[in-house]
Amino acid sequence: MPRTQGGGTPLKTPEQMRAHLLANRTVTEDGCWLWNRSLHDRGYGQVGWGPRLHFVHRLAADLWEVPGEGPMVLHTCDVRRCFNPDHLYRGTGKQNAADREARNAWCLRRRGAVA
Ligand SMILES: [Zn+2]
Repeated sequence: MPRTQGGGTPLKTPEQMRAHLLANRTVTEDGCWLWNRSLHDRGYGQVGWGPRLHFVHRLAADLWEVPGEGPMVLHTCDVRRCFNPDHLYRGTGKQNAADREARNAWCLRRRGAVA
């Protein structure tokens, strides 16, 4: 039997959760999967699963088994609400900063702005 949360709603299975994420995305021309529902105040998609909220991109990385080493789930596309597993990789924050630096080297430096 699946575990239940407070109201007795059955906890979604990973399979159902994948379907839920796919049902609430907008696919852009760049192939990004934009989360259409609730966003965290830093721009990441968030979704409730069981007792707590999850970042959608982190959840997607687990549900679709994005490969890589590292504690963080990072975007190749810099779109925070994107959760296309093909745009995600695991790594460290340091690596992320270095990658971002490399990507932005050709364009005007964004004065440490929150992207
Ligand atoms: Zn993307």
